Amino acid sequence: MLIDFHTHSTASDGALSPAELVARARLAGVRLLALTDHDTIAGYAQIQASAIAETDALRLIPGIEMSCRWSATTIHVLGLGMDIDHPAMQEALAVLQQARQDRAARIAERLEQRGFSGALAGALQHAGDSQLGRPDFAAWMVEQGHVKDHAQAFDKYLGQGKTGDVKAFWPELAQVVRWIVDAGGVAVMAHPLKYRYTRMKLRRLLLDFRAAGGQATELLSGYQTSDQTEQLRRLAHDLNLEVSVGSDFHRDGPYSPQVGVELPAIDGLIGVWQRWLPMDRASQEAVTA
Ligand code: MN
Ligand code: MN
Ligand code: MN
Repeated sequence: MLIDFHTHSTASDGALSPAELVARARLAGVRLLALTDHDTIAGYAQIQASAIAETDALRLIPGIEMSCRWSATTIHVLGLGMDIDHPAMQEALAVLQQARQDRAARIAERLEQRGFSGALAGALQHAGDSQLGRPDFAAWMVEQGHVKDHAQAFDKYLGQGKTGDVKAFWPELAQVVRWIVDAGGVAVMAHPLKYRYTRMKLRRLLLDFRAAGGQATELLSGYQTSDQTEQLRRLAHDLNLEVSVGSDFHRDGPYSPQVGVELPAIDGLIGVWQRWLPMDRASQEAVTA
């Protein structure tokens, strides 16, 4: 069975509109889908009204990927199944939007100091209605001929440790977990291996996450090796966390995973998806077998 609990649309930095993404997932045979745009639920809000019937083979779960801070690093936490009208969600969205704006202003200020004038207006123009972020600054820098491509913009100016790498504005890890849980959702640690922590530090991150109310960690995130999957499986097991899976789909491309992840065997672990699969015992066993 295919599901996908980590995808992006044009409401953040993805290439497909929310409706196109749902259509793509439906075509692929995805049964459960969460749209998890960065710091916004605008995409989900846009399509939930477009009546996805009860009988539809695809079920859409409310989702978000929240940015936060932990130990001087930017961490991503997925929220699944929240009540999007809950006051905790409203507060989360307001704080994250403000943080994103403050961060963009600070990135622009730093780029200006390096001699790139007009950065904020340029990035805003690229962002349009979507979430303003570093990719928009990168697009502007490419357009202006300051760099040759998106990758170079990140390598030289926007990536980790560079001029435009501004972290200080995001809320704390524990705070975003609380918002998700208070709004009735499940908090999932996104792509745990992407932070490139040592095993010890990754354990500390997940312990802090769990202490704050975090319930699950991604077992599969896009392409990964079986060694990585095994490492994540062991961590989830040792720390008693549920597991989730997602493609982290942003756009089509030769190195980009497609929408939809085949449910893995999770022997002994609990999949967050089990909450949303209305199944009889036999098919439940088939999934977990
Ligand atoms: Mn992204
Ligand atoms: Mn992420
Ligand atoms: Mn993502």
